[in-house]
Amino acid sequence: VRLPKTLTIFGAEVLIIKVKDLTDEQENKVDGLFLIECNIIKIEADLSDEDTIHTLLHELFHAMIVRNSINQTTLSHDVEEILADTNATMITELFNLRFKRKKS
Ligand SMILES: [Zn+2]
Repeated sequence: VRLPKTLTIFGAEVLIIKVKDLTDEQENKVDGLFLIECNIIKIEADLSDEDTIHTLLHELFHAMIVRNSINQTTLSHDVEEILADTNATMITELFNLRFKRKKS
């Protein structure tokens, strides 16, 4: 699936890039990352279309949290992760963003 190069989240431009073998700062393999300092979302290039969209929505949720300073409240990291995931699932369901699997 082709992703937009940038998206504007509450007035801030976020760069979207696909990266092969994406890892976090601890070298753990991850599907997506939101880099707060530079407003960049990185998405693992090898994901299925469905997982790519879900991961983008998940990372956009983190961007929204930062843009609205919700990350400076008592919201825990664990709860933020759960909200990012459930929000991504809700949006994919609502807008039928799930891709049908190829019949073989
Ligand atoms: Zn996350």
